[in-house]
Amino acid sequence: MAYIQFLGAAGTVTGSKHLINTSFESDGKKGIQVLIDCGLFQGQKEWRERNWQNLPIPAAEIDAVILTHAHLDHCGWIPRLVKQGFRGPIYATAPTIDLCDIILPDSGHLQEEDAAYYNKIKKSKHSPALPLYTLEEAQDCMQYFQVVRVGEMKQLSAELSFRFVRAAHILGSCMVEVSMNTDGQSRRLLFTGDVGRVHDHVVAPGKVVHSGPAEGEVADLLVMESTYGNREHPRNDPRPELSAVIRHTVERGGSVIVPAFAVERTQKFVFILKELMESKQIPRIPVFCDSPMAIKAVEIFMKYESEYSDEARSLIGKYGSPLEWPGFTFASTAEESKKINEVHFPAVIISSSGMGTGGRILHHLAQRLPDPKNTILFIGFQAAGTRGYTIKSGGKEVKIFGDLVPIRAQIAAFEQFSDHADPSELLTWLRTFPKKPANTYLVHGETTASSQLRDTMTKELGWKVEVAEWMEKVTVN
Ligand SMILES: [Zn+2]
Repeated sequence: MAYIQFLGAAGTVTGSKHLINTSFESDGKKGIQVLIDCGLFQGQKEWRERNWQNLPIPAAEIDAVILTHAHLDHCGWIPRLVKQGFRGPIYATAPTIDLCDIILPDSGHLQEEDAAYYNKIKKSKHSPALPLYTLEEAQDCMQYFQVVRVGEMKQLSAELSFRFVRAAHILGSCMVEVSMNTDGQSRRLLFTGDVGRVHDHVVAPGKVVHSGPAEGEVADLLVMESTYGNREHPRNDPRPELSAVIRHTVERGGSVIVPAFAVERTQKFVFILKELMESKQIPRIPVFCDSPMAIKAVEIFMKYESEYSDEARSLIGKYGSPLEWPGFTFASTAEESKKINEVHFPAVIISSSGMGTGGRILHHLAQRLPDPKNTILFIGFQAAGTRGYTIKSGGKEVKIFGDLVPIRAQIAAFEQFSDHADPSELLTWLRTFPKKPANTYLVHGETTASSQLRDTMTKELGWKVEVAEWMEKVTVN
């Protein structure tokens, strides 16, 4: 019997990895094994340690990977898979491949830095501490990527084909529609990856790529994300309050520190800042994007005009590339980054990682957290166990580079910038399905979020919905 096994993002929001296996044990015929996404576990140690475990089947026996989008929790385990012997194609859209080409080597670099740090302080249980994969190994795995256009049908074997449909989550993001023909039956499986927001600039402001996932999908079996399964995004426009937070920080003589993913979220925030400055809602203070990856992400973004939202198209039409905007500095080198530490006038500093798990943001947090004049501004999800979570949830101190740093800065958080649909938006989208899927499995959510979304979907739609468990196998029948 064909089955799906949830190898990650089940019971948590990271490590997305779903195995489709069409092998027929009964007649001994060899089928095909495909991984939908191959993400890194992040956040709590209990999950991160699973990055070191082998998959239940040898990596070399996996025939292909189909990648929904370039976030690390969906693609970050690919170099490890290749390191373990995977040599098949990795199918993705062109923007996703371009983004992986910057995100994966950066991840390898961070892995190496972490290992070097633990070796230096001799705090690792393992001696010597090793990186999960290196920068070079991450670069090496790019040779296996193959472009698949949105809507193009790709036949992988006699029994399995797939196509990408728009997910409207980040640049290049797609859902995967799988057609499976086994046992004389044909079935449609839909893997959502991460589902984007609705078509509404006030509800989802700063959207830089087009909004709204593909509608009218047909699925016999649906595997859907549930990151925001138990909470609605605020419906109010965040821009007035955001402007007030920035103005007040400037009046105190402080700076605004924004931990943000270098890809998409940083661009989105930079676009909002530009809009607020041009409409005179905030003063023209210097904006520093301290991330070499953010520069490359902007360059990639500028390549794919067809993906822009109307708002992004109009801003670019008026002001050109963010890399050229006066007052906006994109720091590439370590030297340029260090110079930002010497800035003692009010500024906005945007840096990654978005949850404070690593990267240059740590230097900015270590320097600016103890000063109550500053504001730490969260515009993204903070997974339990991350430094971002500790700071956002009112912690008094946080450990950075081995030291406990007091948290005295003001804390502000906005949920409106999410790139994930909330329960109302998911229901609106699911109601466009012409028929009920026979089975729906919820993944990519903390257990409480997934369970609540299951209950909501059962009640509101009358669908059969289950919360997927880590390593659980479900048969496709
Ligand atoms: Zn994502």
